[in-house]
Amino acid sequence: MALPRMLADTAETEIGCDEVYELLDRYAEMVDRGEDPASLLPLVHQHLERCRDCREELEALLRILKDR
Ligand SMILES: [Zn+2]
Repeated sequence: MALPRMLADTAETEIGCDEVYELLDRYAEMVDRGEDPASLLPLVHQHLERCRDCREELEALLRILKDR
């Protein structure tokens, strides 16, 4: 039963694209203001390191913020 247990642990410590997406606005604003989102939103940061879709979404948000 090692595998299901492992998956349960993973679900506790990682968040999915939907949750990242909801926090991405805030994350992008922190980057834009020169704050440290990696320590303020570590789970989002962790997800972005591994998920290319969310990273591209973040880059799009950052471009919008810079254009203002
Ligand atoms: Zn994602």
